[in-house]
Amino acid sequence: MIKRKSVQAVFAISFYLVASYFQISLVYIILFGSVLGIIFGKVFCRWMCPIGYVMELMMKFSKSDEKSSLYQYHKLGCPIAWISGYLNKMSFFKIKIDHDKCIDCGKCDDTCYITNFNKDSSLFKEGKIDPAASYKCSRCMDCITVCPVDALSFTNK
Ligand code: SF4
Ligand code: SF4
Repeated sequence: MIKRKSVQAVFAISFYLVASYFQISLVYIILFGSVLGIIFGKVFCRWMCPIGYVMELMMKFSKSDEKSSLYQYHKLGCPIAWISGYLNKMSFFKIKIDHDKCIDCGKCDDTCYITNFNKDSSLFKEGKIDPAASYKCSRCMDCITVCPVDALSFTNK
C-alpha cells in the first residue's frame, strides 16, 4: 500500500525548494499541474502541492473530520485544482471498477468524501454518479486502498 502522506511530504518539500531556488513562475507551475492533470487527473493537490500539504496538516489539527472533508470537497480556489479537477473525466489514467470482482461491500463509498457528501454518487452502484470522474476527486486513492478484493484500480486501460 502506498503511503500517500509520506509521498506528499517528500514531493511537497522538494517541490517548494526547487520552485523557490529557481524562482519558477506560477504560470509554469499551473502548466505543470495541468499536464499532470491530462495524464493522471487531479493528482497535484494531494500528492505534491506544498500548500495542499500544509492545509491538510492544519485540517488534521482542527479535530473535525467533517471540516477536512468539506475542504477537500469544495477545493476550487486554486487554478491547478480547478483545471486538473475538470480533466479527471478525460485523463489517460482513471479509477475504474471491475464489477466481476466487486462484492458490493460499500467500503469504497464509506471512505470517499465525495460519496459521503453526495449520496447520488457511488463508486460501485450502477446508475449513480461516478465520484472518480468528478472535479472533486483528488485521486487520494483511499477507495482503492480499502477495497478488500482489489476491484478498483487506477489504470489507463
Ligand atoms: S480517489 Fe476515490 S476515495 Fe478519493 S476522492 Fe476520488 S473517488 Fe473518492
Ligand atoms: S470496496 Fe471494492 S468490493 Fe467493496 S463495493 Fe467498493 S469496489 Fe466493490
